Amino acid sequence: MNYESSYTAKPFGTSAEPLKQGDGFMNRYGASMAKLRREMVDGLRRKGIGNERVLEAMESVERHRFVDEKSHARAYDDSACPIGYGQTISQPYTVAYMTTLLLERCPLPAKVLEIGTGSGYQAAVLDALGYQVFTVERLPALYRSAVALFGELGLPIACRLGDGSLGWPEESPFDGIIVTAAAPHCPDHLLQQLADNGCLVIPVGEQDLQQMTIYRRIGMRYEKELFQYFAFVPLIGREGWN
Ligand code: SAH
Repeated sequence: MNYESSYTAKPFGTSAEPLKQGDGFMNRYGASMAKLRREMVDGLRRKGIGNERVLEAMESVERHRFVDEKSHARAYDDSACPIGYGQTISQPYTVAYMTTLLLERCPLPAKVLEIGTGSGYQAAVLDALGYQVFTVERLPALYRSAVALFGELGLPIACRLGDGSLGWPEESPFDGIIVTAAAPHCPDHLLQQLADNGCLVIPVGEQDLQQMTIYRRIGMRYEKELFQYFAFVPLIGREGWN
């Protein structure tokens, strides 16, 4: 079980190696952010994430850029982290887990939609893998800061402000859809916006516990697979929680 909205696991980034010149941001142990990222990836590997392309993408994305400065030192811990407005950036393990599920079923090149932009980190990891990324956020402040950050980082990620439980019909169909908030049931709109053979990765269940679920579209029918349990913040909207 993974609690998305709370600090949990022991940090990976506890190395006390001496500081290298010009190596970017430093944490309070004097380790460079690049080194912390490598340690985060090693930790993910130990926890069972085996997809090297996913690990490589996560080693390349500067997660500390997606949290505020006072959280920089913890940016590479394997824990969720508050991003304001009661929302959290997902735990690295959760990002790695969902991204692996998607990548194993949704080969590149492909067009993917993320619901729940939040900090923008998950979208940046999908971009680093080579997906064409679309993302929807319902909270204006988070939407605006993600748009600004993607601009600063030069990431070609398309953002929309709105109720993502209804998808992004004008840009559909999508080869993959990934929902990073907890849904009470699988939104029909998202199923309808999948391309043939497309996959939807979504945590479905109660507000405090959901099962990671995959729907694959095969013509007019859908195949469902069930995975590990997680605890995400709620998907709020017409096809989510009220
Ligand atoms: N993927 C994010 C973490 C998501 S936290 C990251 O990498 O940081 C879940 C996000 O989903 C929150 O930002 C929340 O505001 C958003 N959300 C909840 N319901 C939504 C909806 N109906 N449409 C779009 N975004 C929604």
